Amino acid sequence: MSYPKIIINETKFKNNVRRAIEICKEKNIQVLAVTKGFCGNRRMAELYHEAGITNFGDSRLDNFEVFKDIPGHKQLLRIPMISEIPRMIELCDSSLNGDLDVIQKISDYCVQNQKKPHEIVLMVDLGDRREGVLPEEALASAQKIVSEMPGVKLIGLGCNFGCYGARIPSDESMDEFIKIKHVIEKTLHIKLTHISGGNSLSLHMVWENRMPDEVNFLRMGFAMIFGTEDMYRQTISGMYRDAFRCEAEVVEVDYKSSMPIGACGIDAFGHKPYFEDIGDIKRIILGIGKLDTMFDAMIPYDSDLKILGGSSDHMIINAQNSKINYQAGDVVSFDLDWGSLLYLFNSNYVKKEFEK
Ligand SMILES: *Cc1c(COP(=O)(O)O)cnc(C)c1O
Repeated sequence: MSYPKIIINETKFKNNVRRAIEICKEKNIQVLAVTKGFCGNRRMAELYHEAGITNFGDSRLDNFEVFKDIPGHKQLLRIPMISEIPRMIELCDSSLNGDLDVIQKISDYCVQNQKKPHEIVLMVDLGDRREGVLPEEALASAQKIVSEMPGVKLIGLGCNFGCYGARIPSDESMDEFIKIKHVIEKTLHIKLTHISGGNSLSLHMVWENRMPDEVNFLRMGFAMIFGTEDMYRQTISGMYRDAFRCEAEVVEVDYKSSMPIGACGIDAFGHKPYFEDIGDIKRIILGIGKLDTMFDAMIPYDSDLKILGGSSDHMIINAQNSKINYQAGDVVSFDLDWGSLLYLFNSNYVKKEFEK
């Protein structure tokens, strides 16, 4: 047995995925399962596949490479770099796009190399201010793609919320999105078959019956991974919050003053830390650090534990109020959030353990 590790409960995870598919299917929406949080872990892609997923989304081509033989539609979620176009054409069926110069380059590449047209989902920025064309530019952009870029096929539109600007999808913004779809279809005499209505943050609109009928795809990671509705942060009925957990080992138990001694400089990461003087406390140190995980996205199962901080390889916890008498060698378990999941999957030092 070796620590730290992330433990994936296959039964709970697959249950969450099946439940998401079921919720969306009622409204004729397909789930495009987002794999990027698993940093190219092949087993995770297999689990999605076993649970019935046929559409995959990732931000990095290296991850697609790992599971390229698993069947399904593969969509690149991060706007492609011009330098990665050749590899993207090999690995992906479609991509989300927001820059006409990039789309032109994709088209040129496909034409020059006699590839079948790459499928383009044009992102529309409805206010979150990350990728995408502005609503008022959408028609002109679509027109340019359709009339001047024979190496690509415009299959649909996408929108995104809650990433950079932390904007929440509203009825008004979705209305605007759907209007753009209709205007493009009518003006250009084309059919847009892939209408990607957002990420996990949009899921609540599905069961609140607020998602327009035209939306037929949701790109979903968070909600299925943590069984949690992003908007209200509540567990979704029929899903599990704890399909993933982290375990780390206690390497030292001590009683020390909560205040460091001596003049204060900067910590290992260049920050000037603040300490509250709460006298002598019982502390535990774990063999997991900032290289492995994001501390403020770690939630101890033992709610009497409080993470104080740490460094690259250590996490320091105030265990003063815990009912458990921790000793070196004991294991502390944590619930996870997006940031910690990402780091833990990405760290080579963290074991990935799958349980049935
Ligand atoms: C990561 C990502 C998603 C998935 O977001 P979740 O909140 O995990 O559902 C969806 N769309 C794009 C463009 C992304 O980059």
